[in-house]
Amino acid sequence: KNLSVTYPGPRAGFMQPRKVVQAVDDVSLTLKKGRTLGLVGESGSGKTTVARAIMRLVDPASGEVRLNGQRIDTLTGRGLQQARRHLQYVFQDPYSSLNPRERAGSIVRSPLDVMNIGDEASRQARVNALFELVGLRKDQQSLFPHQFSGGQRQRINIARALAPDPDLIVCDEAVSALDVAIQAQILNLLQRLKRDYAITYLFISHDLTVVRHMSDDVAVMYLGQIVEKSSRDVLFDAPLHPYTAALMSAVPKLSTGRRRAPTTSIAPVDPPSPLNLPVGCRFASRCPMATDQCRAQMPALREITPDHWVRCHLVDAP
Ligand code: SF4
Repeated sequence: KNLSVTYPGPRAGFMQPRKVVQAVDDVSLTLKKGRTLGLVGESGSGKTTVARAIMRLVDPASGEVRLNGQRIDTLTGRGLQQARRHLQYVFQDPYSSLNPRERAGSIVRSPLDVMNIGDEASRQARVNALFELVGLRKDQQSLFPHQFSGGQRQRINIARALAPDPDLIVCDEAVSALDVAIQAQILNLLQRLKRDYAITYLFISHDLTVVRHMSDDVAVMYLGQIVEKSSRDVLFDAPLHPYTAALMSAVPKLSTGRRRAPTTSIAPVDPPSPLNLPVGCRFASRCPMATDQCRAQMPALREITPDHWVRCHLVDAP
């Protein structure tokens, strides 16, 4: 809620103070149990930083993170370790996110050892069950990561994330390093796990076709801010923010395979630097509908219809 994250930027000059990069600016999101929230936006929009702040891999400058009602952004030591049990991360790269010198069984078991969950026998039984659950054989536990394909390595990552029985799994570009056929297998595995175990996902991706397939709700980020959030169907079928509309018009329709005629387009200029953000709408330099008001005044994120939030001066409630 109202999450902001800043990073120190470069110095403005010799002996000058450092500039501040506002990576995430006043972001509020609700993840509902057993549902998937897709988080989309261009590279540099702040998606991964939001996830890292939720996971306590970076400390927010302001705002709060609650898990089942309890604040976790203020926890330290043992309290933080307990909370981490409920939050797990599946990283983008199945090749570099596994220790090459550790056997697959030991990798999947490591959260149980680190968090001291169960006894020896129950940990091994859990690892056996997880290998079966993600479609790997029990005898593959003794193999090293280089002996698996990319898709199998991502299955190991997913099994490791499932090991402590988390409430939330953050999938950060979890299939983008895989080829399309393997992507489909991993996405179907994630969907099946969600259905069978009521897992909640925060699904970060730049691939809107994948986000549409996976998500119940979607939030769109631009330069550190949420510009639109709603249910998946509303966002893909009737987007209201010009940036979302331009993104969605590039997604082929499932029924025809054709792209929709663009309702709006993004001007071919670079977005503003996060070190030098405009005072008004951050999308104004690329928005074909920008007005003087847009350039002078930051639009607020407003609820246009129930659960449909948009940050644009030109969008009014019906
Ligand atoms: Fe475009 Fe103005 Fe809306 Fe920003 S506020 S998205 S510049 S129309």
